[in-house]
Amino acid sequence: MFDVPEVEHLPYLPGQFVSFTHDIAGKKITRAYSTASAPQANRFELCLNRVEDGLFSPYLFQMQPGECLDMKGPLGHFTWKEPVHDSILVATGTGIAPFRGMLHAYLGSEPAREITLVFGVRYEHSLMYRGEFEEMERNHPNFHFLPTLSRPDESWKGREGHVQEHVFEVLGERRDMDVYICGMKAMVDDVRNRLKGLGFDRKQIIFEKYD
Ligand SMILES: Cc1cc2nc3c(=O)[nH]c(=O)nc-3n(C[C@H](O)[C@H](O)[C@H](O)COP(=O)(O)OP(=O)(O)OC[C@H]3O[C@@H](n4cnc5c(N)ncnc54)[C@H](O)[C@@H]3O)c2cc1C
Repeated sequence: MFDVPEVEHLPYLPGQFVSFTHDIAGKKITRAYSTASAPQANRFELCLNRVEDGLFSPYLFQMQPGECLDMKGPLGHFTWKEPVHDSILVATGTGIAPFRGMLHAYLGSEPAREITLVFGVRYEHSLMYRGEFEEMERNHPNFHFLPTLSRPDESWKGREGHVQEHVFEVLGERRDMDVYICGMKAMVDDVRNRLKGLGFDRKQIIFEKYD
């Protein structure tokens, strides 16, 4: 959770990212991180993966409360496309971050479009914000949460395999939905290519790649 002390209110569109810069081993390093929260005063939340041997992310994990770093933004265009259509949101790993903020901001607004979140991780314990998404599903009949594990253990009774398999099941014969995709390049490109193969217009495919 980060505060921007210079302002009382930090306006942004849910889904946008911030750009952090810090001196690491004598070099200025800049990295982007999606906001994981809807706007709230001058505070925003992030959802971070510590990349082993990464340059920047281990530094973020060492930070102590009260420490500062330089930030630009929020920036970017990975936000709800207006008007919102029935949509599928596809995330793997920390690619869930922008969807959390977008869902908090959108659910409850009218007209209530059908929104399905397909969230893939390896293990059950990596299903970040699971309780929140399950609660959203209970409170909003137009929201559907489909978690899937690529390395489930025997106790898992839910969906298995990669997000791709489930996205196309949700889509069925429909070609009128928007598909938002966020995560690593390999997954994003795979889903995009398959959607294009089905005849989806590029305007219906909204994506953010993390690498
Ligand atoms: C628009 C945008 C938004 C992003 N939002 C987030 C976010 O919300 N949370 C987040 O953790 N990262 C996010 N990233 C990735 C982030 O900017 C960094 O690339 C990541 O923290 C690794 O930086 P590093 O310096 O530690 O690793 P580097 O030394 O730059 O090593 C890069 C390696 O890390 C891998 N990698 C990058 N991001 C991830 C990740 N999230 N999970 C696993 N492997 C990764 C790359 O494929 C590459 O192999 C975002 C990237 C972009 C472009």
